[in-house]
Amino acid sequence: MHSREPTDVFCPRCGYNLRGLPLPRCPECGLTYPEEAWQAGVLRENVPTTLDRCDPWQPHQVLLRSSWELMRGTLAPRRLVTTLDLDGPLTRAALVLVFGGLWLYALTTLALAAATYLHAGTSPAAALRSAALYWTPRVAIVALAVALLTLGIVSHPSVTRLARPSARRLLRLAAYWLPASAAHVAIPLTLLLLVCPSFIEGLTYLPPLIGGLLSLTALRRRGPRPPAGSTRTATALALLCLLAWCLATPVLAHALLPTSLDPPLWIYF
Ligand SMILES: [Zn+2]
Repeated sequence: MHSREPTDVFCPRCGYNLRGLPLPRCPECGLTYPEEAWQAGVLRENVPTTLDRCDPWQPHQVLLRSSWELMRGTLAPRRLVTTLDLDGPLTRAALVLVFGGLWLYALTTLALAAATYLHAGTSPAAALRSAALYWTPRVAIVALAVALLTLGIVSHPSVTRLARPSARRLLRLAAYWLPASAAHVAIPLTLLLLVCPSFIEGLTYLPPLIGGLLSLTALRRRGPRPPAGSTRTATALALLCLLAWCLATPVLAHALLPTSLDPPLWIYF
């Protein structure tokens, strides 16, 4: 039996104060903790995803579950940061990154093609080509930049409650985070283009700011927070990412995103 320094540590699931308890288990809800996290006094709940429990050689399972995980991560980004099982298999995380990314690319392309068809008066085929080859790659670069920078902010130990944020755990978080956070940029952008295409004439800097704000809802507090082993490097990195998100991504979007839904001439050849 190991004992910790008697400090206030709260159960990440039910908020019960575990101060001074001898065993790595919450008496209120029954959640147990790994010895390493218990010793460090930094506790998180690790919940496996639907993809962690599927057969990776069943393509329909991988496709369905990666779309489900993308949707869940997009709707509840905080869940990814605080309760995703970061010690789960890396291969499944790679599946989410690849197939979640492909889902997002395909859906963004379809929405942008619809906007082009509706507002630029092109044929459906030209609208689809323009969306897939001209618009979506540019949206993808901007969305990925925002996703990487918000990852730098939310992977701070005080948010993830990781006693030791190893590279492996951060990779696992990144694989789930990047498609979900990129969706936070792609969805408002495509909706705005569908509803009000005149928006792109001067407001291309807005989507990265809206998307980043949606992703950073993951930072909202809920219940008592345990003391975390936050380091100076992690804090400096988070602040740097915050600054780059506010200042650099709007400039990137303004430089990259087209100012009109009219397809470029090369689309027709
Ligand atoms: Zn509990």
